[in-house]
Amino acid sequence: MFAVIKKSQMIMIAIVLCVVVCSSIVLSSTTAKEIDTIPSLGITVVVDAGHGGVDPGGIGINTKVKESDLNLEIAFKLSAYLKNMGINVVMTRTNANGLYGLYSSDYKKRDMQKRKEMIEKHNPDIVVSVHMNRYILSSLRGAQAFYDKNNEQGKKLAESIQHYFHETLASSKSEISIGDYFMLKCSGVASVIAECGFLSNPEDEALLVTNEYQEKVAYAIFCGIVRYLSLEE
Ligand SMILES: [Zn+2]
Repeated sequence: MFAVIKKSQMIMIAIVLCVVVCSSIVLSSTTAKEIDTIPSLGITVVVDAGHGGVDPGGIGINTKVKESDLNLEIAFKLSAYLKNMGINVVMTRTNANGLYGLYSSDYKKRDMQKRKEMIEKHNPDIVVSVHMNRYILSSLRGAQAFYDKNNEQGKKLAESIQHYFHETLASSKSEISIGDYFMLKCSGVASVIAECGFLSNPEDEALLVTNEYQEKVAYAIFCGIVRYLSLEE
């Protein structure tokens, strides 16, 4: 049955599911479970959980949760949704460690270089880096999709992801943001950094540490990716 369904039809089916679920916001019932029988769409997404190892990224203002741990949780959840649709997923890290190998003063540079090498090796269609934001003003909150100003596909992907952030997540604006980041520039691939909320904001932090909200964020990114792919068909 599935074997005769075209790639474009599969994507449309997924979009319909996205719209239904996102509009009803019954996300707790959509917890991702990997299914082995769905055929590959021939699309590869690199899911990059930011930071790791000695680099925790941001720290939660109240709980002191590490950004690196939350990034990994959401990266796993996003990967499961993508795999369920028949999209190949490459995760840059699958545990709490960084990618730099043995620690030395230039660990950050080696960590970023390794992520770049993984993108080059797997030649993906999309790269999504998962991060949490922080800011000196604790009132700032919401999820933001960043893209590089010279990457047109990245901009389209960011618009698509931000659409679902705005529709489904707490206090997320509708505008996308230009970012000057290594992960957005290290390849020509459609790349987005998903800053899923502010760890410097107590309300965002309280949501981001829960499994339910992590699922919601991952599902919003997933819907954004599917919508982007459908527009590119
Ligand atoms: Zn970060």
